Amino acid sequence: MHERAANLGTETAFSVLARAAELASQGRDIINLGIGQPDFPTPPHIVEAGIKALRDGQHGYTPSKGIPPLREAVAENLHNRYGVEVSPDLVQILPGGKVVIFFATQLLGEAGAEIIYPDPGFPIYASAIGFSGAKGVPYTLNEAEGFGFDADAILGKITPRTRLIIINSPANPTGGVTSKTEIQKLIQGLEAHPQIYLMADEIYDQLVFDGAEMATALDFPAIRDRLIILNGWSKTYAMTGWRLGYGIWPSSLMDVADRLAINVHSCVNAAAQYAALEALTASQTCVETMRQAFQQRGKDISKGLNALKGVSCAEPKGAFYAFCNITDTGKDSAFWQKTLLEEYGVAVISGTSFGEAGAGYLRFSCANSDSAIAEALSRFSRALDES
Ligand code: PLP
Repeated sequence: MHERAANLGTETAFSVLARAAELASQGRDIINLGIGQPDFPTPPHIVEAGIKALRDGQHGYTPSKGIPPLREAVAENLHNRYGVEVSPDLVQILPGGKVVIFFATQLLGEAGAEIIYPDPGFPIYASAIGFSGAKGVPYTLNEAEGFGFDADAILGKITPRTRLIIINSPANPTGGVTSKTEIQKLIQGLEAHPQIYLMADEIYDQLVFDGAEMATALDFPAIRDRLIILNGWSKTYAMTGWRLGYGIWPSSLMDVADRLAINVHSCVNAAAQYAALEALTASQTCVETMRQAFQQRGKDISKGLNALKGVSCAEPKGAFYAFCNITDTGKDSAFWQKTLLEEYGVAVISGTSFGEAGAGYLRFSCANSDSAIAEALSRFSRALDES
């Protein structure tokens, strides 16, 4: 086996999900606030479009980059939402937004190169960077700064070996949203480093709560020739299990990203692509309904966590996670992840699963019912009393 394989990490949320399912199968009453997926079903009109595609005989391979109407719909959707021009030729439909991370890191990373990424951040960044052979260079997201990034701190990490910078807003696991000013500052700073690509993970861009504002990196023409966008349907349309996502590539990388796709998965499931087309072109009411539900739960869960002894939690500005500070409980995040699941039946993820800077934090997913969240908080309160 190649040495780089030892660098492959994982996503703790999946092992916690497996353990939670195992405990549930033994008859335990488990509340899952671990995995990051909407608890809503995919809206019925989208499901119907997938079924219809199967009935209509969409059973074969599609073009590797995705069916043309879907790539056009992605470009149009971005135009409608942000007023930006995106060429459908640079849109690649993928089996999950996650694939963009793998492709970008493998295309730009190699031994001797450096890739800058957020900590705490989605664990696949560090894992895929390590697998590419590049050195991962983390930048810290701080609670005191609302978990948004500080452009100067990122720019300060650049060396002649830097190939790629990864940003993510709204962010997993913190629920932080970075301001347009800071994104602009980063992009302006990158003008002095024309060899560095920027990957903006905008998978939660439609889950931004009142008072915060989504700023897309697509808004800055100066970076377009080295900008990679990650987005998709998983979070916005409750479609995690359909495995659908998209990348927008600079023209310099589009062909090689397509060759990678042909080597790896050929194309995305045809019926899923028709469902994705329906998601983008039909009424967007379902998106707003889910956004409001996550917003309310984010408020409720952070309020409930703040009422617990030794726990504090900033109200999330987006995504669907509450990232609470448990330093004053006197126990670390790994202890709470294990104790809450094994003894109290509540699945949450330790902050350290998202990087070293996650020490002292726990991630609660708001993607569960109000009653399940209330019960999880009451069990956490009991655990705090009994520990
Ligand atoms: N990026 C971030 C920040 C995420 O949290 C996730 C999913 O948890 C993804 C990307 C991947 O999403 P998908 O399910 O579309 O692969």
